Amino acid sequence: MQELQLRFLLISFTDLFGIQRAKLVPASAVAGMARDGAGFAGFAAWLDLSPADGDVMAIPAAASLTPLPWQPGVGWVAAELQLNGQPMEQCPRRLLRRQLERAAERGLELRSGVEAEFFLLDPSGERIGDSADSQEKPCYDQLALMRRYPLIGPLLEAMEQLDWGPYQADHEDANGQFEVNWTYANALTTADRHAFFKVMVKSLAEQQGLRASFMPKPFAALTGNGCHTHLSLWGTAGSSQAGRNLFHDPVGELGLSPLAYHFLAGLLAHAPALSCLSNPTVNSYRRLAAPPTTSGATWSPGGISYTGNNRTHMVRIPDDQRLELRLPDGAAHPYLLQAAILAAGLDGIERQLDPGPRSDNDNYAKPLEPGSCGRLPVNLGEALDAFKADSALRQALGEEFCQAYEKLRRRQWQRERGDISDTERRACLDC
Ligand code: ADP
Ligand code: MG
Ligand code: MG
Ligand code: MG
Ligand code: MG
Repeated sequence: MQELQLRFLLISFTDLFGIQRAKLVPASAVAGMARDGAGFAGFAAWLDLSPADGDVMAIPAAASLTPLPWQPGVGWVAAELQLNGQPMEQCPRRLLRRQLERAAERGLELRSGVEAEFFLLDPSGERIGDSADSQEKPCYDQLALMRRYPLIGPLLEAMEQLDWGPYQADHEDANGQFEVNWTYANALTTADRHAFFKVMVKSLAEQQGLRASFMPKPFAALTGNGCHTHLSLWGTAGSSQAGRNLFHDPVGELGLSPLAYHFLAGLLAHAPALSCLSNPTVNSYRRLAAPPTTSGATWSPGGISYTGNNRTHMVRIPDDQRLELRLPDGAAHPYLLQAAILAAGLDGIERQLDPGPRSDNDNYAKPLEPGSCGRLPVNLGEALDAFKADSALRQALGEEFCQAYEKLRRRQWQRERGDISDTERRACLDC
């Protein structure tokens, strides 16, 4: 802390709904908290605890320490949770670390990159923040991008300062939507950065009088916020394959190895249950299998299928180095997303699953026939049912976590599914 000249530390954790919770701790008190943790009343966050439970202690993970580029003197650190002196099973960061350990036992390291799209809205969150951003096909709109330079410029600079390897920013496919890309890394590093990125974008947007939103589908007629996740498995340090991308195989189909295809088959096999974590909100299912947007395409998948370099399927093989999972959306939990993907992929590897032949179909021009590909859940209720039924994924993630997560999300589904929309009212009022 001293060498970074930090006066305060935000000891932060991400709860089961992906909300960042933190305490701001003066440097003089950090030593004790680094050892014993910062205390939180668990019931006050989404953790499935009761007000009668003891304090949740958040123990900072030093490797994640990140100075806030927009707030000199303050550092952020991701913490892992303990209850009654024991690590908590439903701590998302720990859950990811455990999956990474399982992979490491096989000599494998997951490296991943996320494309965390977001909207810049007015402070109410109801309208796009820039009224001039109104093109029918707004993707890559140079003027709209540069009107946001006061936000995007410092954001790119901050990421460079943090050494994340940012390499591009653009206006995305919906009016008011942007994306900033940084270089892939070990999945735990990516998850820490993903969590921090969301805080950073929201904070910088607030400074500009804007509201950044990662909501999966804020406007029915516009493309939603995806969180495409790019994946490759590497040989762990010290193994015979150390530092090699084990997904790459010059003689494999599209340049990918049998290992990559088993991993891919795991993603396909577990997609319905996985979606409960990668597409975790009621709103998430308005982005999937949605009607075309005003720009011409939703860019989101409608079913469980894979392809080469074609953006109309659930998994794309962009090149001979990686897979791109296009299912996740902006509500995906930074840690649970990576943990569930890895658990699904490892199951594919363990059971040597075969993804079958790829499809080169243009799914937007000609949707795949029902029955010719797997079906994604149509709402959070179906995703929860799939999650309940997927015993292999549950076993990998741990029953205690699964029950806590399911309980909270099902309650949310039951509450929100009861909402009566204006469209529904118009259709039924006089029936
Ligand atoms: P898209 O063409 O899908 O819009 P982007 O350039 O926006 O792709 O994002 C690609 C992401 O994939 C980046 O985070 C990049 O670092 C990451 N990536 C590139 N190669 C690999 C790889 N071998 N393994 C994992 N992630 C990768
Ligand atoms: Mg108090
Ligand atoms: Mg992109
Ligand atoms: Mg994009
Ligand atoms: Mg993409």
